[in-house]
Amino acid sequence: MQTTKHPRRRKSSGGFHKASKPGAKRRPQNNNRGRNKKRTSNIDPGRLVQSATVQEVKSYESKHSIAELPISDKLKQRLLNKGYERPTEIQDKTLMSLLNQRDLLGIAQTGTGKTAAFLIPIIEQLLKQNQKNYALVLVPTRELANQVEEEFKSMTKGLGLYSACFIGGTNINKDLQTLNRSSHVIIATPGRLLDLVQRKAIDLRKVHALVLDEFDRMLDMGFVNDVKRIVRGMQVRQHTMLFSATLERNQEALINELLTDHVTVKVSSGQASSENIDQDIIEVGEGEDKMDMLKALIEAEGDDAKILLFEETKHGVKKLAKKLNQAGIQAEEIHGNKSQNARQTALKAFKDGRVNVLVATDVAARGIDVDNIALVINYQMPMTFDTYIHRIGRSGRAGKTGRALTFVTRNQNK
Ligand code: AMP
Repeated sequence: MQTTKHPRRRKSSGGFHKASKPGAKRRPQNNNRGRNKKRTSNIDPGRLVQSATVQEVKSYESKHSIAELPISDKLKQRLLNKGYERPTEIQDKTLMSLLNQRDLLGIAQTGTGKTAAFLIPIIEQLLKQNQKNYALVLVPTRELANQVEEEFKSMTKGLGLYSACFIGGTNINKDLQTLNRSSHVIIATPGRLLDLVQRKAIDLRKVHALVLDEFDRMLDMGFVNDVKRIVRGMQVRQHTMLFSATLERNQEALINELLTDHVTVKVSSGQASSENIDQDIIEVGEGEDKMDMLKALIEAEGDDAKILLFEETKHGVKKLAKKLNQAGIQAEEIHGNKSQNARQTALKAFKDGRVNVLVATDVAARGIDVDNIALVINYQMPMTFDTYIHRIGRSGRAGKTGRALTFVTRNQNK
């Protein structure tokens, strides 16, 4: 429940803000000190006010249990040990095609069990045929790479199958050492992988299966040419699995180039829309202190609520986390300038509930799998509505109702 005197609700105007002319010069804002070029969001704040409607969570129940799947007992046992009882929808609907080495276009978001959907057939193949450098899993972010590797390790405990994870922001010499022993599955972000390919430390021609995970994000983040270069280096691959949360028209040509005679499987996330999230704006008028308003909001949430706070820039995240800590509100931060270790530590503290406020940039927050986020706060309005939906979707996962608040300067709301 909103316990501060904010926000002031406003009815949607239904209209859009006048788009500024392309190339028009904008005066830099005071608080920006010219450090980062400030872009203006084109979102109509009216779209950010919405009451959650309780959604019937369409829970999918597979007809088969994990124990009944046509995979080896060893792998079944690891899945059961992880507490998996039945395959999720994406796993259920893709398993047979993937076991038969069919190329796949999987439309599924984080949270649907897509990681295991591609790892189960990969591991099954490796159990049949122990092949080094069998698969490459390409992901857009470091966090997602770590999550995929964690899932792989927990699914292959004691099976003699090994993974290697190559991500930016870490010491490349360590990667080169890791490459002295070959692994079965390589998980990597595009930039670091290409770096290693250029140093001739990885020979992509040896890789048989390719997974492109969160493909839409990969394109969003400007990795399109990197992905094309990597794929060109893997002409002889036998199996390609591409997962994307969304399917945009303009991606179709590229997807068709990457896949051969593929099957398409689309699953609902149970939370794809933002309808299960209570959304509101907080208007900041002239003379009002946004930081004070934020502190009041956080304090009103009590001691146990996990809050994810978004800022647009790395510098903004740093500054905000510092201010909160100075004000006695413990906050961790993740953004691209933090070392991989620092990001992992911050994320773990947040996941474990040792710190209840995490301040993040969009890029750093992508792919993070944290449940029970009570509230998402957009301290800055995101640039696009798509980013907004992605941010607020961090709350209200697993069929729960979530909440999102967005700070809006009052004149922005006219
Ligand atoms: P993902 O979409 O791959 O990020 O997976 C989301 C979460 O679902 C992860 O925490 C997985 O460990 C979990 N998960 C994946 N498959 C299953 C399953 N068959 N049963 C229960 N949980 C699962």
